[in-house]
Amino acid sequence: MSTNPKITSKEAIELEHRYGAHNYHPLPVVLAKGEGVHVWDVEGKKYYDFLSAYSAVNQGHCHPRIVKAMTDQAETLALTSRAFHNDVLGEFEKFATEYFGFDKILPMNTGAEAVETAIKLCRKWAYLTKGIEKNQAKIIVCENNFHGRTTTIVSFSNDPDAYAEYGPFTPGFIRIPYNDLNALEKALEDPTVAGFMVEPIQGEAGVYVPGDGYLKGAQELCRKNNVLFIADEVQTGIARTGKLLACDYEDVKPDILILGKAISGGMYPVSAVFANDEIMLLIKPGQHGSTFGGNPVGAKVAMAALEVIRDEKLAEKAMYLGEILRNELEAIDSDMITLVRGRGLLNAIIIKPKGDIVAWDVCLKMAENGLLAKPTHGDIIRFAPPLVITEEQLMDCVEIIRKSIASFE
Ligand SMILES: *Cc1c(COP(=O)(O)O)cnc(C)c1O
Repeated sequence: MSTNPKITSKEAIELEHRYGAHNYHPLPVVLAKGEGVHVWDVEGKKYYDFLSAYSAVNQGHCHPRIVKAMTDQAETLALTSRAFHNDVLGEFEKFATEYFGFDKILPMNTGAEAVETAIKLCRKWAYLTKGIEKNQAKIIVCENNFHGRTTTIVSFSNDPDAYAEYGPFTPGFIRIPYNDLNALEKALEDPTVAGFMVEPIQGEAGVYVPGDGYLKGAQELCRKNNVLFIADEVQTGIARTGKLLACDYEDVKPDILILGKAISGGMYPVSAVFANDEIMLLIKPGQHGSTFGGNPVGAKVAMAALEVIRDEKLAEKAMYLGEILRNELEAIDSDMITLVRGRGLLNAIIIKPKGDIVAWDVCLKMAENGLLAKPTHGDIIRFAPPLVITEEQLMDCVEIIRKSIASFE
C-alpha cells in the first residue's frame, strides 16, 4: 500500500517529531494513499476522510482527471516564471474568469498569498481611485477571522496562537464582530476605510454561518460607503457549501473574490484573486508577482479541478447530502452533541465534554472506527468530506460517528 513499505506509523511519527518543526499537532495517523473519499494509513487501514485537507480535496483524493492534467503538463512544461509567456496561462485565465464571472484573475499559489494580493489590490484602489491620503487606508475584518499565516494576516487575527510573539504588526486593519451589520455600519463611518474582508462562513473559527441577509446587507453598506466588498472563499468556495460560492446564497458578487484550496482539487498549490478591470488593472507590471503563480502545471490542474466540479455536479451534491448529514447528526441521541451547524458539506458539531472525554478523544475514537476528522478550537469538530461521497457512504459515516459517540455513554 505504502510507497515506503518498511516504515511503520510509529516510526513515521517519530521521524517527524525528531526532524520537523512542531508547528502542528496532527492526529496520530500516518497516511500513505488516497482515492476518492478514502485514505489508507501505512498499515493499510482504510478511513473516510472527513476533513478533505481543510476543503482542498473537494473533488476527492487523486481524482483521475486532475492527476492526468497534472502529469501530462508536468511532462511537457512545468515552470517558465512570468518573465515569459506560456501557452496554458491565457487559456486558464479565460476559463476561470468566465467560470466565476469576472473580467480578470491574478493567479498565486497559496490562500495566504491570495489574501495578501487582495489586500494590496484594495490599498491600490484606496489611493488611486478612492483618493485616500497616502498610507492611511484601512480594511475592516471580523473577529475570529482566519485568512492565513503571513505576518500581515496574523496582524489582524485575534487568536493568540496565530499572532502572539510575531509582532510588530502591520497597521491598517479594523476588527469588528462577525455577523453584525450595525458594527459594520459604524466602522464604515471612517472615511479612510477602503475595504471589508469577510469569510461568508467562518470555517476555521468552527463553521459559523452568519444570519440570513448578512452578506447582502454588508455588500449594500459597502456600496453606500464606496468601500470594496472582499470575500475570502478559500474554504467556502468551489461547491463546498452547496453552491459554487457561499456568496451565491445571497446573490452577492464581491468586488474582490479570493479562492484557493479546492481550485486545484488539492493536487497542487493554486490560489487566485478575481476582480473587474477597474480594480485589477490598477496593479501595473512589476508591482506584484510570484515565481510559481500562473505556472502551466497549476493552470492545467485548476482547469481540470473546476471542470470536475461542474461535470460531476458537486455543488448540487453538496447541497443535497449536506441536508441529509445535518438531519442524521441531529437525530443522534447523545447529550455530548450540543449543536450541529453548517451549509452543504461544510459542517460542525459541538461536543460537550463528558468527564475527561473531549472532542480530541471523540476524533481518536472515530479514527479507530475508520473516519478522520479533527477538532478546531477545542470542542468543535468539523465534518467536511470530499464532495464525491455517495449517499450510501455518507450513511456509513453517520453510523461510525454514532457508534463512536455512543462508546462514551
Ligand atoms: C486555509 C485558508 C486560508 C489560507 O490558505 P493557505 O493555502 O493555507 O495559505 C485563507 N483563508 C481561508 C478562509 C482559509 O480557510
